[in-house]
Amino acid sequence: MASLPWSQQLSDTLAERQRAGRYRKLRTRSSEQGIHVIIEGEKFLSFCSNDYLGLANHPEIKRAFINAIDEQGVGSGAAHLLTGHSYYHQQLEEALAEFTGQEKALLFSSGYQANMGVIDGLMTRDDVVIQDKLNHASLLDGGRLSAAKQLRYQHADISALEERMAQSQQANHRLIVSDGVFSMDGDLAPLNDLVRLAKIQGAGLFIDDAHAFGVIGERGAGSVEHWDIEQQDRPIVMGTFGKAFGTAGAFVAADEVVIETLIQQARTYVYTTAQPAALAAATLQSLKLVQQESWRRDKLSSLIAQFRQGAQGLGLALLASDTAIQPIVIGDDKKAIEVGKALEQQGLLVGVIRPPTVPEGSTRLRITLSADHCEVDIVELLTALETLLCT
Ligand SMILES: *Cc1c(COP(=O)(O)O)cnc(C)c1O
Repeated sequence: MASLPWSQQLSDTLAERQRAGRYRKLRTRSSEQGIHVIIEGEKFLSFCSNDYLGLANHPEIKRAFINAIDEQGVGSGAAHLLTGHSYYHQQLEEALAEFTGQEKALLFSSGYQANMGVIDGLMTRDDVVIQDKLNHASLLDGGRLSAAKQLRYQHADISALEERMAQSQQANHRLIVSDGVFSMDGDLAPLNDLVRLAKIQGAGLFIDDAHAFGVIGERGAGSVEHWDIEQQDRPIVMGTFGKAFGTAGAFVAADEVVIETLIQQARTYVYTTAQPAALAAATLQSLKLVQQESWRRDKLSSLIAQFRQGAQGLGLALLASDTAIQPIVIGDDKKAIEVGKALEQQGLLVGVIRPPTVPEGSTRLRITLSADHCEVDIVELLTALETLLCT
């Protein structure tokens, strides 16, 4: 069996992590993904997936997937640049460019790779990347991969960002980077201010819309649509398919020059196998459903409103989030884990998110809602939270 010469040291670190209540543990799901899941033999009502629109096991998406597998096989067999790029990938890229109102779109095998690819592919020595402190780990890792200098600003704080802009006047090029919807807080980046500042300062702007794409905006087109950003001012946008779209993978949308540059220079695009063509076919079907079934977004909005109203009525401290991500900050790790366990005993599953995923002292229940939930599910969750947190 493979082991390392410093195995004892690793074991000590693991034990330390366990003592601190920070140990991450894998659990196996046997049912399909959805609001009703079976995890290691136990049934739960789940409030912890990112399947915001309830599309992860939609019959029409499954059908599109299976049909395309019959036609194209399972594996794509190669990178996009070496015969991996199928007719379905091409169609999806064209549809996404149109949906997001951008010139071109480029598929990546995951959001993680897309973020790494954009920052590393566009920014180099003498450039500066300026990121919101609460940006997703993959954006920060993209910065680490690139030779550009990295700066961070206080979360969603435009005057802090202005300071960073003043400090980085000497840079060759600057790229401001932010989540569109923040993954652990659920709040929105002030996109109109970011767009205005980037424009005044001659900086680029890159928005990670993993939790916005499909969910916010009238047609589900994400942050740009929600904030009504004019065509010529649109940022480079990354969207993922593993969340609201219910499939897997990601894309970047921008003008042709940006996309062509990524095709030449984004290492996480060039040096990886294309996603299966059937996955692109399935995502094309989810794009149709996202566009046609606006009732999913309406239902999600009313569930969010119901949850917030109920939680506020109970005196629970909510964050300033109008999205499907509704965290309740507990603070203490062990207390939060206890609350999570007590909820599980009542058949309710919520994410307990600890540092380093969130800042020290802000361990939280990360409750996520889905269009598949119904009103009684929310009532059930609120009742349980009331007994555990309000007595
Ligand atoms: C999930 C997520 C990603 C990564 O996307 P994957 O397709 O899961 O790799 C990137 N950014 C944010 C904000 C995310 O929540």
